[in-house]
Amino acid sequence: MGKEIQKVVILGGGTAGWMAAAVLSKSLTKLDITLVESDEIGTIGVGEATIPSLHFFNDLLGCNSSNFVKNTSGSFKLGIQFENWQKKDHSYFHAFGTTGFGMWAAGFHEYWSRGKTLGISKPFSDYNLEAKAAEMHKFAHDDKGLNFAYHIDASLYAKMLKQEAIKNGVTRVEGKVEKVNCQNDKGYISSLELQNGTVVTGDFFVDCSGFKGLLINETLKTPFVDLSHWLPMDSAITVQTELTEDPAPFTRSIAHHAGWQWRIPLQHRMGNGIVYSSQYMSDDEAEEILQSSVEGKSLTPTRKIKFKTGYREKLWNKNCVALGLASGFIEPLESTAIHIIQQGIMQLVKYFPTYGINDLEVAEYNDYMTNDYNEIKDFIILHYCQTEREDSDFWKFCKNMQIPSSLRRRMDLFQKTGRFVQNKNEIFVDSWLQVMIGQGLIPEQHHPLADELPEKELKEFLDNIENDINAKVNQLPSHAEYLKKIS
Ligand code: FAD
Repeated sequence: MGKEIQKVVILGGGTAGWMAAAVLSKSLTKLDITLVESDEIGTIGVGEATIPSLHFFNDLLGCNSSNFVKNTSGSFKLGIQFENWQKKDHSYFHAFGTTGFGMWAAGFHEYWSRGKTLGISKPFSDYNLEAKAAEMHKFAHDDKGLNFAYHIDASLYAKMLKQEAIKNGVTRVEGKVEKVNCQNDKGYISSLELQNGTVVTGDFFVDCSGFKGLLINETLKTPFVDLSHWLPMDSAITVQTELTEDPAPFTRSIAHHAGWQWRIPLQHRMGNGIVYSSQYMSDDEAEEILQSSVEGKSLTPTRKIKFKTGYREKLWNKNCVALGLASGFIEPLESTAIHIIQQGIMQLVKYFPTYGINDLEVAEYNDYMTNDYNEIKDFIILHYCQTEREDSDFWKFCKNMQIPSSLRRRMDLFQKTGRFVQNKNEIFVDSWLQVMIGQGLIPEQHHPLADELPEKELKEFLDNIENDINAKVNQLPSHAEYLKKIS
């Protein structure tokens, strides 16, 4: 393009739009940033569970954990309890911390695995501090060494980000975009025309317009990489209910015969939703399952959401970067969407084209973001394909589907040898071990280093970790007490 980029226009005022506005205005202070949003269209209003990478984003905005939880009426999240996933009436915990500790070339799971063959290992999560604290509903975040994320009220989060962005000089324009104008030569976007006649011009556009992707899709016609043959979920129904008990420091994910249901506890209410595949479950049946299983009085009407799983082939196309639902979506099983938005913003800051758009930078951005989507895709598929469930057509499909070769390789390597390989920049590491083992994928072998310990010493090693964790957990306050204290 060769022209200095000064004027950035963000289309959309949901979580993605305001996250982008807050960080771009804070870090690239010379930019002139305008955000266009439409009250009439509104936002999706979900997206309430997060993963620990959000700490980095909050640090960037100078927001500490206590203030964050207070401002979002949130709670702390130590992980996710998966119920009925491996089989019915079975549950396991995916915690954010690491499990035990390994020694040199052998990971902890290899010692645990040998202990299991000797009959001296407890369940894998008994060696994880966060999982134990969650089980006992305990929590404290200062100097207690717990890895955690948050449950948040999405509307309060957007409000908080908006205040920050406006304080940093972002201009907010209210109105519905009716027409997008492009330059004739290269097809770059040049301006947005609003229903009320306002024209907003820009050098660079960030599409945060939600599922429809008004710029990246409807204007630039960027192809979509469809992942629904692996992840057939395409529908969700949500409802907010009153709390019937103290908020737990974890999300619950409860599998059904063709989908799953979430429970996300906040300080003032419970967020509930069911995610399902319309191929295997009707909307009416899903609504019935949701309504009959929520605890507490409904505070909102139920809301249906339809979605498509996949991502844009180019997440940065011409002078437009897509963030949030405009860029793509993988179902919320591991609460990764806000994380992907954050990654997109960080990479955009890294490669921001101040002196003109360079194809090499665009390619780097697209590679990075595509890898992120694909790693998350593999991790989510693992939850479905590694199961003993065959009690419905849906679970039969999941158990027998042909999975991506990258995932097949990882699972086979782990099952046959006990080895686990971490990819560069991968967000989930220990999580893979917890979910593989939790879903019943138990290694057939372990590293020879684990055989170096005589059985008695191995038992002591395992017992010491467990006792140390129990002692730490005993000293923690309850999550409910802790929330009261900081709020
Ligand atoms: P939206 O919230 O849809 O915002 C779009 C914005 O664009 C709005 O402001 C709208 O007014 C504006 N807009 C659109 N068209 C126009 C127009 N023509 N003119 C002007 N303005 C326009 N993520 C997580 O990290 N954790 C979770 O637990 C989680 N749960 C989810 C559950 C479900 C069922 C779904 C579907 C998603 C979930 N997500 C979750 C994803 C998360 O909700 C989104 O990533 C996040 O809310 C960002 O949405 P967004 O800002 O991209 O889109």
